[in-house]
Amino acid sequence: MPESITRLAPSPTGALHLGNARTFLVNWLLARRYGWRVLMRVEDLDGPRVKKGSDRKMLDELAWLGLTWETPVVYQSQRAEFYRSALESLIKSGWAYPCVCSRKDIRQAGGAPHEDDAAEAYPGTCRGRFRDASDAAATGRPVAWRVRVTNEPIAVADRFASVKTYNLAKTCGDFVIFKTDGLAAYQLAVVVDDSQAGVDAIVRGDDLLESAARQIHLRRLLGLSPQPAHWHLPLVVGPDGKRLAKRHGDTRLEYYRSRGVSPERILGLLAFWSGIIDRRRDASIGELSAVFDISKVPRERIIFTRQDDQFLCGG
Ligand code: GLU
Repeated sequence: MPESITRLAPSPTGALHLGNARTFLVNWLLARRYGWRVLMRVEDLDGPRVKKGSDRKMLDELAWLGLTWETPVVYQSQRAEFYRSALESLIKSGWAYPCVCSRKDIRQAGGAPHEDDAAEAYPGTCRGRFRDASDAAATGRPVAWRVRVTNEPIAVADRFASVKTYNLAKTCGDFVIFKTDGLAAYQLAVVVDDSQAGVDAIVRGDDLLESAARQIHLRRLLGLSPQPAHWHLPLVVGPDGKRLAKRHGDTRLEYYRSRGVSPERILGLLAFWSGIIDRRRDASIGELSAVFDISKVPRERIIFTRQDDQFLCGG
């Protein structure tokens, strides 16, 4: 079945920078290429990290680049009731349980430090420990909710990164689906939202590949089908190989825009990185829509270089 609906899902926890702009652009161009509808969902559940006004700014900058989407824009903060009912259904089916472990408890219970993934996995301390939420609350500690995982491989048949297989018992263990602040965790919210909106094509950074396995697990438990198709794209990194961040200088769109850099110049760089054009030059969104080809997008990480910065700012 051909895919038909995708979504752009920015987290308003910071500014839009060249790295996430590039992922959104490829997502949008894929949608153009295949005729998918494009929805916009603001992922504003991460309480303390959400920055006021950042959602408006991000949307404004994406529109400035020439991206379009359907309205209304969905805000996760407005959808608590749906996440709550998914949680209730997982409690009822015995897959979700309350947990009072702090990060420190989990670290101390962690496995051998050289076994990277096992050391990260939740050791299951609260699995089967409490009768219900009030039993857990009686400890006087904040209560979160975790979902059980199984000790078996989950394959993410990614259209871009190829097939990747994860055993969640090893990579993360039972993971949090509702946080102690009473808000849904990212994994649960995304599954509920994508399913309700009929999203069947997900394009995002490959730092979320393992999350895709968690989301497949949740969808199965909640009886949500079919699974969406995924395209996980390599991230943009700095010359030191680390994910693009403040340490690499100011790569926010806002910064370039305020210095008079045109959207065509930014698009030209993002398109060059994505194999759409063969050298750094200005490009319009219309031109990119006409020539975009996912098979040209490099499989490797993209390195933001001095030449890139010079191209943007040096005229
Ligand atoms: N909000 C996430 C981000 O900005 C994307 C989540 C997703 O696409 O599932 O990285």
